[in-house]
This record gives sequence, structure tokens and C-alpha cells, in this order.
Amino acid sequence: MKIITSIFDLNKEIKNYKNIGFVPTMGGIHDGHKSLIKASQTKKNKTIVSIFVNPTQFNKKDDFKKYPRNIKKDIALLEKLNVEYLFAPSAIDIYKFKARKFNLDQRDKILCAKFRKGHFEGVLNVMNRLMTIIKSKDLYMGEKDYQQLYLIKKFLSKKFKVRINSCPTIRINNNIALSTRNKLLKKGSIKKASEIALFLKKIKYRSKLQGSKFALNLPYYKKKLEEKYNIKIDYLEFRDEKNLKLNNFKSKYRLFVAYNIDNVRLIDNY
Ligand code: AMP
Repeated sequence: MKIITSIFDLNKEIKNYKNIGFVPTMGGIHDGHKSLIKASQTKKNKTIVSIFVNPTQFNKKDDFKKYPRNIKKDIALLEKLNVEYLFAPSAIDIYKFKARKFNLDQRDKILCAKFRKGHFEGVLNVMNRLMTIIKSKDLYMGEKDYQQLYLIKKFLSKKFKVRINSCPTIRINNNIALSTRNKLLKKGSIKKASEIALFLKKIKYRSKLQGSKFALNLPYYKKKLEEKYNIKIDYLEFRDEKNLKLNNFKSKYRLFVAYNIDNVRLIDNY
């Protein structure tokens, strides 16, 4: 695997190389990331993984500081997976050139955009930069971060004429979604988070049986979960898969959740 740390070297190595799958990450490589890499490898000649903990998407400094990082371990894992290129740039390199800024539309200021001010503006900014540098036509991203996927499709896919390949969420024993942030959880909290995931899956299942009126029960379940597990839930909402409209049970929909446990913010959807 070639490890590239500057835009200059990247340009020398893969300039205008379009038949390459791109998997952007913030590192802490786990089986969720691996599934994106495998999806790229089955379709593309080569795969480039980026590891960049993007400072501008963290709305809290402390969250950025404590975000788990282990580049040595990540390199070993990526080598084992036969990834051709790892791009691990510095923030100085990524932010040294001018690029447009993004503002969300009013209707996008929902879910995480409502609770993490500036987060998605930061995500769109860095993805715009990464996609300007890496001219891949195939991006691999996880449904775990569904709103991110939605906004990148909305704001960037046309501009870069890029296909966004969305990959299903990988879970531990079918419950808690894998996430780099799980590394910050105490052992007991992993168990709690698994129980919460199982509970929310059941809620989603019941909603299918009972239809849209079931959404009226969500405030009750939210309170129940908060009390039982001593967590703070930012949101628990049914939203349409295509347009993220609230309680739109007419087409496919998902149950979206974000909550804080051990001062760690976890998000998921079912
Ligand atoms: P991150 O490193 O958390 O920024 O994630 C990088 C990419 O991996 C994003 O496209 C995520 O949606 C995806 N991802 C993270 N966790 C999972 C998971 N459990 N299953 C599938 N994809 C995931």
C-alpha cells in the first residue's frame, strides 16, 4: 500500500486516474469501513482510502481532541485488506486552497444538523476539497451516517459527476452499529447501547404493523429510554428515506436516533 500524505504526492501518483474507488474515513478502521472497502474492491481496479479527522466538522473542541486515532493500527489493517492507496493529509494541506463554502437549506436543518450546528457545513466543505483532489467517480459511504449520505448526494454528486455507493450498516451481533466512537465507551455502556439498538429495532418493526399513527408513541419511548439508561436523546424520529420528511409513512422510512452516553454521542438509523 502506498501511503500518501500530501496533495503534491497524490497528484504525481494518481493524477486523473478515474477508475479508482474512494472511501473517505476519519480512521479507527473497523468492520463498517471494511465493508465499504470491499464494495469498492469488487467494482473498481484500485481503491483509495482517506484518513482525515476533519477539524471543521466538530462543533466541540473537546470532541475533536478525544476522537480516537491510531494511524499505525489503521495502516496495518488497510494493508491486510490489500488497499492500494492511503491518503492521510494534514489539515494545512487540505485547507490551503480556496474552495466554495456550503450553506444548508432551511429544510435541511433537521436531525444532526439541528443539534450539531455547523457540522454538515464542515463535512460538505471537506468532502468538496477531498473530491477536488481525488477525482474518483465512485464514492463508497455508509448508511449509518444517513443524513451525511443524503447531503453529500444533494450538494456534491452532480458537481463531481460522482456515483455515491451507499453501503448497509454493519452491526455487532446485529445490534449496536460499529463506530470509531464506540472505543470511547465504557464496557457497561456498550451493553446498554446494544440493548437500546435492539429496542429501537423492535419499535421500527411495530411501526410497520401499526402505520403512521405509531409515531405518536415516540415521545413516550424516548422518555422511557432516557430514564432506563440514563441517556440524553437528541432526537428519535421517523423520516422518509428519500427526502427525510417527518413521519412520511407513504414510502420507505427509517427511525433516526442520536443520543449521548458516557459523554459520547452515538447516531444510528433502523
Ligand atoms: P467515519 O470514519 O466514521 O467518518 O466513517 C467513514 C465512512 O464509514 C462513512 O461513510 C460512514 O458512514 C461509514 N461507516 C461508519 N460506520 C459504519 C458502519 N457501522 N457500517 C457501515 N458503514 C459505516
